[in-house]
Amino acid sequence: MMMEKETYTPEETYELGKTLGQQAVQGQIYCLDGDLGVGKTVFTQGFAAGLGIEGPVNSPTFTIVQQYEEGRLPLYHFDVYRIGDISEMDEIGYEDCFYGEGVCLIEWSQLIPEILPDHVIRIRIEKDLDRGFDYRKITVEGV
Ligand code: ADP
Ligand code: MG
Repeated sequence: MMMEKETYTPEETYELGKTLGQQAVQGQIYCLDGDLGVGKTVFTQGFAAGLGIEGPVNSPTFTIVQQYEEGRLPLYHFDVYRIGDISEMDEIGYEDCFYGEGVCLIEWSQLIPEILPDHVIRIRIEKDLDRGFDYRKITVEGV
């Protein structure tokens, strides 16, 4: 199934993330793609809230993955923007996250295509400056 949603504020993107977080089930991998500053982390914050995670959620820039245990399901939040080599994913034990008890959300997943399973949920966020600075088109595929 494919779904498209247009948002005009960060709050709307957060709310979409929250709705999907509420519906998330164990074993899902959400691949989040889009340019820097487009709203991947805003979406992730909503998603985490939807899972019942209350603490702050920010991009795990220096660790590649940040794990949250306090929600309905464990959340593994990856941001692979600064990954140098795919072996770094092995080093952090990504398989335990991908095939584990929780849900994965991967910012910049297009940088690690070789290790993504066949079935993932793809979320693409795009700007269109003709429609305003805060406009985003969010495409969700594979839910
Ligand atoms: P990314 O993780 O993709 O690099 P962030 O989520 O960190 O991006 O930042 C997105 C920025 O864009 C935030 O400053 C946010 O307030 C702003 N923004 C403006 N409009 C929107 C929108 N419609 N959806 C999401 N973020 C928006
Ligand atoms: Mg980010």
